[in-house]
Amino acid sequence: MPETTVLSAPQKALQKLGLTRDIDLALHLPLRYEDETRVVTLRDSREGDTVQIEATVTACEIVYRPRRQLMVTVDDGSDTCMLRFFSFYPSQQKALAVGTRVRVRGELKGGFVAWQMIHPSFRPAGGELPSALTPVYPTVAALPQTYLRKAVLGGLARADLGDTFPPGVSDTLKPLVWPLREALTFLHQPTPDVALATLEDRTHPAWQRLKAEELLAQQLSQLQSKREREALCSPALVAQRKGLHEQLLAALPFQLTAAQRRVSEEIAHDLGRKVPMHRLLQGDVGSGKTIVAALAASIATDAGWQCALMAPTEILAEQHFRKLIGWLDPLLAPKGLRVAWLTGSQKKKERTEMLSLVANGEAALVIGTHAVIQDQVQFKKLGLAVIDEQHRFGVAQRLALRAKMTEPGQEPHLLMMSATPIPRTLAMSYYADLDVSTIDELPPGRTPVITKLIADTRRDEVTERIRAQVAHGRQVYWVCPLIEESETLDLTNATATHEALSAALPGVMVGLLHSRMPAPEKKAMMSLFTSGQMSVLVATTVIEVGVDVPNASLMVIEHAERFGLSQLHQLRGRVGRGAAASACILLFAAGEAGRLGDSATARLKAMVQTADGFEIARRDLEIRGPGEFLGARQSGAPLLRFADLVLDAQLLEWARQLAPLMLDRHPELAQKHVARWLGGKSEYLKA
Ligand code: ADP
Ligand code: MG
Repeated sequence: MPETTVLSAPQKALQKLGLTRDIDLALHLPLRYEDETRVVTLRDSREGDTVQIEATVTACEIVYRPRRQLMVTVDDGSDTCMLRFFSFYPSQQKALAVGTRVRVRGELKGGFVAWQMIHPSFRPAGGELPSALTPVYPTVAALPQTYLRKAVLGGLARADLGDTFPPGVSDTLKPLVWPLREALTFLHQPTPDVALATLEDRTHPAWQRLKAEELLAQQLSQLQSKREREALCSPALVAQRKGLHEQLLAALPFQLTAAQRRVSEEIAHDLGRKVPMHRLLQGDVGSGKTIVAALAASIATDAGWQCALMAPTEILAEQHFRKLIGWLDPLLAPKGLRVAWLTGSQKKKERTEMLSLVANGEAALVIGTHAVIQDQVQFKKLGLAVIDEQHRFGVAQRLALRAKMTEPGQEPHLLMMSATPIPRTLAMSYYADLDVSTIDELPPGRTPVITKLIADTRRDEVTERIRAQVAHGRQVYWVCPLIEESETLDLTNATATHEALSAALPGVMVGLLHSRMPAPEKKAMMSLFTSGQMSVLVATTVIEVGVDVPNASLMVIEHAERFGLSQLHQLRGRVGRGAAASACILLFAAGEAGRLGDSATARLKAMVQTADGFEIARRDLEIRGPGEFLGARQSGAPLLRFADLVLDAQLLEWARQLAPLMLDRHPELAQKHVARWLGGKSEYLKA
């Protein structure tokens, strides 16, 4: 499209929804369907039915009690029905003049006197009835249904939907006999005789075909990237006798847990090979992933290569830096090496100095935020990249990191760390391209965190508890919720809480940390808290990941009902890191109806019932479904939109078996298939 083209509002909305290619439009499936194919009589209808009738208007007036509304009575010959509109245009009132025959569609309610419909849709009676169900698409305000419907049908007609399944495969699984074009056409405009339940639960053959296609694309692209990676080369990194790795182990103030030892060995084994490592290290909050990363880094150092460690936020990066510098600097110094530090907020002079350390190889380890992978950063010999809290890290950034290799055809080993475990089934299927190491044990001596649900109306009691903790020399986090649409609201909320707590706790230092604060201020706040001078820290979700202040023993989460389950678990992991008994208070505010929604209730309940990260992940999956579960963690990666890894296990297995055969024997079809389904996004899957 030439740049000068001015897009209409609906066109812009289409772009925003990512509906640009014909295939994207064709794959934009209805949320639900409306049956406008039949006209029924009121006499044959039941309360709660959504029906379409044709009737004559017998009365039409605006009434003012109990509130202003347009009240219209219609008679279809079998019975009468009252149509009520609380907002309406004069033109609508005119179109419903007494005597007019109209076709009305809406949900029937039993009124006192007669049937009622609230805000039904209507149009002049007569005219042809559609022969297919009417699709209702997910859309946004700027994009009217009718416009979108036309666009989708246009895209569907134009899209190249030629079969990409290799010859014969449709026969291996019976439901797949529907060709893609037929399947999509049906899903956009199903014939009225379809059992709607089979569309809703996606068991209909048309759905099966679509899901099989999607899963195949996913498996193909993963396998492809795996093969591409295996063709690449990485330096073999092996620890030296009496080298840094051994020294670090000897210098640690604690014994590694058995789980830490096991995962360290798995990682060391990968590093020693010439094939790039692509491993996810997962372990609950506080399970001690940092030291495992440091041990991996020290192997790289022993082998004469550099390691980069990236964290999603500056606070977290700084925390790693402090910890690692404490462990490693004394050991590195005699070798003429050091730990470098790179962030966006750094002073120019310091940055220049750090950049030259990275470039001349003096920096064995570089720690920082995404600043580590900016263009000016040149490594001398990058051998290993560690990404902490990988799900918070953009996929594009991971790709950029790979481009940092100095020698062509080579790439660094990659270690990703996450505190939100991926359930095994997902790890094996969705992340087929990833090896997983799991720390399934916490270091000894931790006291379990007690979790309590408290209604927001009892804030005063909570303040008292804070006072008591502080009196014992303990520290407290107070986390305010993230309100998706509005950072301003977030801030107002956090600021108000900060003020209220400061007022209620005279003589206690209460700090405020929010996402829009400039980095140096954040840092200053954080170091006041880390050093113990500040007792209470009110924060928006910036402390979500990784912060380690063992003296903090109480975590209050305000509006806990608004947080996701794994987010809550992550937050709770900030306390209970020392020997003191710790608690997590989930403050909840019941909604207007005076009660919480089902899913909020399930989340809060899960938090009280278990502290096990894997169990939390399992329940999260159950509450949210795999699509969203992955979506939240893998921003940028294409999700499974149609298939469900759990429910469609059989199709997944079919796709897993077919993918390698297809890549070997029908590479062009495989290519075409992946391009159709993933478009430009397939590159992301490889990260
Ligand atoms: P996470 O896995 O959440 O990143 P950290 O690496 O921050 O956890 O470790 C949490 C705390 O536990 C740190 O203070 C760390 O020094 C400590 N730690 C790690 N491993 C052990 C161990 N084996 N024994 C005792 N303490 C440990
Ligand atoms: Mg961590």
